[in-house]
Amino acid sequence: MRRVVELAAAAAPRACVTAALLLTCIGGDALGRSPWVVERPARRAAVDSATHGAVALLAWTVAAASGDGWRNAGRLAAQAVSCCLLAVLIDLDHFWMAGSLSLKSALSLPTRPPLHATTAIPAVVLLLHLCIRLTNAASLHSLPLLVAVAWTTHHVRDATRRGFWLWPLGSTPPLPYWLYVATEICIPYGILVVRTTLRCEVESANRASIV
Ligand SMILES: [Zn+2]
Repeated sequence: MRRVVELAAAAAPRACVTAALLLTCIGGDALGRSPWVVERPARRAAVDSATHGAVALLAWTVAAASGDGWRNAGRLAAQAVSCCLLAVLIDLDHFWMAGSLSLKSALSLPTRPPLHATTAIPAVVLLLHLCIRLTNAASLHSLPLLVAVAWTTHHVRDATRRGFWLWPLGSTPPLPYWLYVATEICIPYGILVVRTTLRCEVESANRASIV
């Protein structure tokens, strides 16, 4: 019974942040569709960017806050804010491709900008992971998964409007809304499984080297 209570106490904060993630997806999109926002492109862009950032921040909090993650609140907050900023900065490629800081030019590109190619995500994340392993940069071991959360949560939100851009194959149809929300909720739990698996591998490798 005591174990059940302990498990429930450990799961409760994650359940609360997951609920906040769900509300942020639905609330941010509802605000983005309101007449007060739709009429003004600058407001629309600001609400869209803020929602991208908040979704990434909460998704990383769910993915990273296991056991010691909750105890090391400072590190968790720094990582979550970094994930939020990365998710927001992805849209800068619209301006880079337009060659202008004009919002109108950035939003009327004839093709999608490079950071919106979903096929780039696994390649970049794997490359980062290999570089960090080869250089033994232990302090950066969370970076590939942090980039994966920021980038995938952003692409999944964008996919409700234009689908996924699977360069060089083309684009998928737009993602149904219910599937977008479900995917945003599942991403941090998928990352949590990967983190737990990687940590178990490191611990067993450490044990083997001690023996
Ligand atoms: Zn975007």
